[in-house]
Amino acid sequence: MARNTLAQIDSAALKHNLERVRALAPRSRVMAVVKADAYGHRLDLCLPALEHADMLAVATLEEARAIRRLGNGLPVLLLEGVIHSDDLVVASDLDLELTIHHLDQIRALERFGRAPTSRLWLKVDTGMHRLGVAGEDAALAHQRLLALPGVEQVNLVSHFASADEPGGDLTGRQVERFDRIVRNLEGEHCLANSAAILADSGLHRDWVRAGIMLYGISPFSDQCGKDLGLQPVMTLTSELIAINHVSAGEVIGYGARFRAERDMHVGVAAIGYGDGYPRSVADGAPVLVDGHRCSMAGRVSMDMITIDLENCPDARVGAPVTLWGRGLPVETIAAHADTIAYELVCRITRRVRYRSINI
Ligand SMILES: *Cc1c(COP(=O)(O)O)cnc(C)c1O
Repeated sequence: MARNTLAQIDSAALKHNLERVRALAPRSRVMAVVKADAYGHRLDLCLPALEHADMLAVATLEEARAIRRLGNGLPVLLLEGVIHSDDLVVASDLDLELTIHHLDQIRALERFGRAPTSRLWLKVDTGMHRLGVAGEDAALAHQRLLALPGVEQVNLVSHFASADEPGGDLTGRQVERFDRIVRNLEGEHCLANSAAILADSGLHRDWVRAGIMLYGISPFSDQCGKDLGLQPVMTLTSELIAINHVSAGEVIGYGARFRAERDMHVGVAAIGYGDGYPRSVADGAPVLVDGHRCSMAGRVSMDMITIDLENCPDARVGAPVTLWGRGLPVETIAAHADTIAYELVCRITRRVRYRSINI
């Protein structure tokens, strides 16, 4: 039988989370962000559950092409616009809406002679200093975009640097700047990512851009999705392929990092960093074996992990192992791996099989 290392993708949870966005932002339209293969959850498995989103958003042309190949006709926004002007032809063929964040992109459109779609999204920098035209260039940029043949609407966008830290004052300053910059410009407003959707209804405006929360994951470091009324979409599972007795004083795994302080039963599960389970996970991080909370003992290898079975003494080879998802928030594992949950779900490798559940 094939190696049983699986990412289960829960369609009902995804639908529930989209409903949660709607309930939180009832007056806004929802852009479902599905970049990076739906944050590692796989576009083909997720798009059916997102059919009631108002629009999809991706980072790259290839991601947009994949949406069209799947036969999905929702409006699609390229969050970074096109990078090379040759790509305007493709964007046009695929009927993609563009973010315009730089004056060079306006020049490219003027040379091209039209925009791929009648709606464009002008991104202004309000303080994150990553993408966006400067405030003083916004009015002219807006005017030039509206002057392109076929363009009917130019919406106004900005992105927050730290909406996930609700106590901070940068978000407030960014909103003030945004409102000042766009005061005399026509178009709908779009500011909020998941953190802003959850933190402050004043940030919702005409459109919200929901990413991580759709997948049931909290953008805040001190809360998990469940605390926010979200349900995990991905559950990553494997099984025990061996159980060994290790005597007190012996070591486990590469680098002999873990030393047994007592006689132990150690379970070996078929998953490792070659599957996307992070090597940076520390000893003691939780793992569910047969539903019991056990803990990591020893370094993560490419293909395997080793687990202290003290809390599951009756486990047998073949017992189900949950790395994260239902019953064990991925946010918890991210904290034990010194990263954010966004990175963990995006880094599942091609070796892992995916399966849709609750369709
Ligand atoms: C990825 C992205 C989002 C979604 O952010 P989340 O924190 O996942 O909700 C929103 N806006 C832009 C511009 C993005 O690149």
